[in-house]
Amino acid sequence: MRYKAVRGNKWDIRFLLLAQHVASWSKDESTQAGAVIVDNQRRVMSLGYNGFPRGVIDGKDRYSNREVKYRFIVHAEANAILQSKVTVEGCSLYVWPMPPCSGCAKSIIQSGIKTVIVPRCDIPERWKDDMDIANTMFSEAGVEVSYHALKGSGFLRQRQTLHDIAIK
Ligand SMILES: [Zn+2]
Repeated sequence: MRYKAVRGNKWDIRFLLLAQHVASWSKDESTQAGAVIVDNQRRVMSLGYNGFPRGVIDGKDRYSNREVKYRFIVHAEANAILQSKVTVEGCSLYVWPMPPCSGCAKSIIQSGIKTVIVPRCDIPERWKDDMDIANTMFSEAGVEVSYHALKGSGFLRQRQTLHDIAIK
């Protein structure tokens, strides 16, 4: 995967922290993901976390079986796009803790979001191929993906906090 480290920006860190907070609302114990959509005036347009569609029973039994869960769950990025009451054309999307999957990449591109900001992190092996496809689509569609570099040479792992992110 190609990483593009960006200069740390106070607002980028704030919105990533907000995405981290929103992620904590998810009932998925294996991966809590959060997404924040912001317009070019830094106004928050929408929030999303990974969860089942409205009204669908989201019991532990469905979450505990990965194959079952995948069929029910709406990812944080897709939820943020779907929940928005206004167009997200030209907006930026902050995602915690991992970059978007290929499914979300399609929605992100089609919604007109132009920038995706994520913390640099360890990608679980099972997601690597899929996220490569997502990156290929982002690159071809002209969506910029910015990865926040960390202090030192480490990667951000899940459940670390953004205090570890460097402001260069
Ligand atoms: Zn996704």
